[in-house]
Parts: sequence; structure tokens; C-alpha cells
Amino acid sequence: MRHGFGVAIVALGAAVGCLWLARPPAPAGGVPASAAEPGQEPSSGPKWDRPRFTEAEAERRAMVRSQIERRGVANAAVLEAMCQVPRHEFVPPDLRARAYADCPLPIGHGQTISQPYIVAYMTEALQIKPGDRVLEVGTGSGYQAAVLSELTPHVYSIEIVRELGEQAKKRLAPLGYKTIQCKIGDGYLGWPEHAPFDAIIVTCAPTKIPPPLLAQLKPGGRLCIPVGASGRVQELVLVTKDDQGQTRTKSLLPVSFVPLTRE
Ligand code: SAH
Repeated sequence: MRHGFGVAIVALGAAVGCLWLARPPAPAGGVPASAAEPGQEPSSGPKWDRPRFTEAEAERRAMVRSQIERRGVANAAVLEAMCQVPRHEFVPPDLRARAYADCPLPIGHGQTISQPYIVAYMTEALQIKPGDRVLEVGTGSGYQAAVLSELTPHVYSIEIVRELGEQAKKRLAPLGYKTIQCKIGDGYLGWPEHAPFDAIIVTCAPTKIPPPLLAQLKPGGRLCIPVGASGRVQELVLVTKDDQGQTRTKSLLPVSFVPLTRE
């Protein structure tokens, strides 16, 4: 992956403004022809219904080309997932016109839906295969959960702000994202009833990696998480657990996320 630029502003608290990132000069390519056709899965493995939307399809493909592929995200299934999920359904009505812009957007309660690029980047880092069990901490709008559910039917998402969690549930099922399981609670503790997970994504920043999340990661699993104090540049890290249960941490990107809060 090629990511030679500064801080990805992901979830800027209540900030409405966008930070436009300098783009590497590489030419924009199209979404690879190898990307799965809508609704098509590999011939083996789990089958599940994924909703399809034609509204704003051109904007989505342009977003994927110019913001995501151009910056080095290359996984065909991830690019296709980003092309399919209708981001405009996950932002407040007055911000729909900016749903495909290259920035995070406010979703209420001082929280934000992450910048499309960072959603794709983190999703790619998780290397999700169909059938993997994935935990998300920080449901927010439900957008990242919907993107994950394009890749596997086993997505579990936790949100600590009750109103946001309820709204996300009310949004996801009617849109057709029926495989995602959401709950209101403190994601610091993970979701022991559904553990262990092949992949865990945290979309809010703790100051240290929560031990329960490490414990709930399968051997061979991946955890993608921003770590650091709020209001400062944080570090996006990828933790991998080997078959012996040993973890390795790799630093990926400087980022700015809202803080992980506790109950
Ligand atoms: N993934 C979201 C972006 C969410 S912003 C999306 O696609 O829209 C981060 C979210 O993490 C916020 O909604 C915030 O309320 C939530 N959060 C913060 N601390 C949390 C915790 N301990 N457990 C679960 N969610 C938490």
C-alpha cells in the first residue's frame, strides 16, 4: 500500500470542516474488473443477502477512484464494498449533498462518520474473508458496519451513545443490512458472547489498547485501532495475533479520531 501523506482526519469530534489531504500524484485507475459483481459471492463459502442501490452510484464510483484507489487501497472486495454502500443514507439529511466528499461529517452527539478513505484503509488492513467474525467498536452511523457486512455476514457492532446506537439499528435493517448485530454498551469490554473474532476494528481512540479486545482476538486475527490521547495526533496500529497467541503491533498511519469513552 502507498500512503505517503499526513494525518488522516477521521472523526473530528464536532468539527464540521473538512481537511483536504494532499494526494499522491499517481493516476487514478478504475475499480478493477475483478471486483465482484453486485450480490455475487465466491462459489464456496457463506451466502448472504446484501442490498444494492442505484442512487448516487456514479458519485460512489468516483469517490472510490479518486479518494481511495488513488491513495493505494487495492483490495478488490473492499473497493467494491465501498462502491456499494450508500453513504448518503448514513449522514444527516442536511449533509446528504456532501456524503461523498473527502472528509468526515458530523452525525450528532459530537461524533462523526469517518472519511471514506480511512474506512476503506482500515477495512483493507483487516483482511476479512467471507465467514470471518468481525467486531466493530463505535457503530456511530452504522456506515463502517455496512461496509464490513459486504465482506462477511458475521458483523457485531457496539456503540456507547444510546441514541446513536438506536438510530443505527433503525437505519441498517430497513436498508437491508440484516446480518449486522448491534448493541449499546462499552466496546472497551468487547463482546465476549460472540468472541473470539477474526478481526476487530475500533473507530474511536483509547489511550492504550484495551486488553479485553486483545483477549477476544483469535489466533491469526487482526485488530485495527487508533491509539493516543484525544486532541492530539494518534497512531493507527494493526495488531496481529499469531497461532501461538503472541501479538505483533505495526504502526500504520497518523490519524485523528474521537476518543473512546467509558460508561
Ligand atoms: N464507525 C462509525 C464512526 C463512529 S465515530 C461510522 O461508520 O459512522 C466513533 C464512535 O465511537 C462514536 O459514535 C462514539 O460514540 C463511539 N464510542 C466511543 N467510545 C465507545 C465505547 N467505549 N464503546 C463503543 N462505542 C464508543
